[in-house]
Amino acid sequence: MPAATLPAPAAPPSADPRLDPIRDKALAGERLTLDDGDLLYTTPDIWTVCELADAVRRRLHGDAAYYNINRHFNYSNVCALSCKFCDFYAKRGDAHAYTRSLDDARAEARRAIEAGATEIHIVGGLDPYLPWDYYPDLLRAIRDEAPTLHIKAFTAVEIVHLAKIARVYKQSDRREGIRWVLERLIEAGLGSLPGGGAEVFDDRVHDEAFKGKIRSDVWLDVHRVAHQLGLNTNATILYGHVEDRRERLVHMDMLRRAQDEALARMGYEGIEGPREPGIKGSRDQGIKGTGEQGIKDVAPITLTRPGTPLPRPDSPLDPSIPGSLDPSPSGYFQTIIPLPFFPDGSELERLPGPSGLENLRTLAVARLMLDNFPHVKAFWIMQTLAMAQLMLQCGADDIDGTVVWYDITKVGGATTHQETTVWDLQKAIREAGFTPIERDTLYRRVEREGNTWRIATS
Ligand code: SF4
Repeated sequence: MPAATLPAPAAPPSADPRLDPIRDKALAGERLTLDDGDLLYTTPDIWTVCELADAVRRRLHGDAAYYNINRHFNYSNVCALSCKFCDFYAKRGDAHAYTRSLDDARAEARRAIEAGATEIHIVGGLDPYLPWDYYPDLLRAIRDEAPTLHIKAFTAVEIVHLAKIARVYKQSDRREGIRWVLERLIEAGLGSLPGGGAEVFDDRVHDEAFKGKIRSDVWLDVHRVAHQLGLNTNATILYGHVEDRRERLVHMDMLRRAQDEALARMGYEGIEGPREPGIKGSRDQGIKGTGEQGIKDVAPITLTRPGTPLPRPDSPLDPSIPGSLDPSPSGYFQTIIPLPFFPDGSELERLPGPSGLENLRTLAVARLMLDNFPHVKAFWIMQTLAMAQLMLQCGADDIDGTVVWYDITKVGGATTHQETTVWDLQKAIREAGFTPIERDTLYRRVEREGNTWRIATS
């Protein structure tokens, strides 16, 4: 019987020469256009896309890869809304509905301190039964119990909900109400805002998948006011549901334009050259200039140009870092966190959700398009730790932290107890070829002995 013959191996995909101009722009630190982004998304040469994202990431961070020691606290899963993609929310009376007390929060803060955590991450549903006072009281309870813990809390959606229940939110001047809420939360201990609730900045997508939630203009306003008050924030993109490729790219463009504003306030200078024409973010609202979306038409500012320093809150006396000599420096977006949509348990269960390759490519595209975001996070809870390792080689510089409880999205039937150890995080980073660096919420390097830690001075 003749020996079975294997088919000849397929030839490796050839490099896509259409990526050459994008390579030149990315390596020079120039801003990529939406059409560039479209090509990055559609080229079969995904390895060059990853290679370019890796080159940019190494320019910004060398071989450092960040993690932190953190805990999550979800104060309530009761929500007035019912977003189609969400399997977290409950209605009052549901068997799985819960609302945590201030004592629960204090206990969680104690556990965080005992675990050596530097951060507590707090989010919840838009609970219509909790009064305004609950929220500053929650922050005070945690701050009093654990003064060294950085409190990163409340998405933009929750901030607007709080302004409404505090009766300070006016459609005619929403920024005033947002400011009122943020000032009181800062006084109570708020240290930064997480990036959730952004989803995809497009009205069609909004109306189809999360109607009732705040639109892009309001989400951006919350972050803009937070930056003006000196808070650093993060941003997310939840992809892989009803949006299309172009809508993802417009979302990224709107974020980097908002970051242009924050960095301009800190003294960074824009780059000369041709400008992308005004885009349509929300379908019916032109956003060039200071239109409905409120994004100012400032010159693009990229952090990927050779020699450009990153904004850092820990260098108050370094004159080479814009904003560092300002006694009240502006806040800014620290991190973009691409989040894959998981259909299981949601009203959009019929959808397949994004593939692993799509996750990898979206993260690499985000690194290349968001040229003024210092960090890109491969959130291991939603990407898996194995995938996060690969993502570190495709543009990510951060894999988040030890977490413990995560109730928002469960990957592949995972439970709400999702915890990993520092050892596992460090091992994953080293295996991927990078140097693990423990950071605090503001990306300052942490020095640690057991559960005792401090911010490194050098
Ligand atoms: S995504 Fe947020 S606002 Fe929407 S239902 Fe879920 S918890 Fe509520």
